[in-house]
Amino acid sequence: MRRVADVVFRAGCPDCRSRFELGAGALRLAIGASDRTTFYSFTCPECGAAVRKPAGERIVELLTGGGVRTLRLHSTASAGRI
Ligand SMILES: [Zn+2]
Repeated sequence: MRRVADVVFRAGCPDCRSRFELGAGALRLAIGASDRTTFYSFTCPECGAAVRKPAGERIVELLTGGGVRTLRLHSTASAGRI
């Protein structure tokens, strides 16, 4: 069994340039239809900025494996558009 609570991710804030570690609960992952619409986001604990960064395949694997909440953005509906 995995102890998800122990997983921490290193992240940096582009606004205040501080570096810190975040638990899985502090991160959100959004998976889009392509790499360009796949990103993770978090709030900087230092300055409160909302940070959003692109997530490659490896990062997605890492985050989902670590128990980060994942949102799937691409719709599966192929029945035409309004
Ligand atoms: Zn910051």
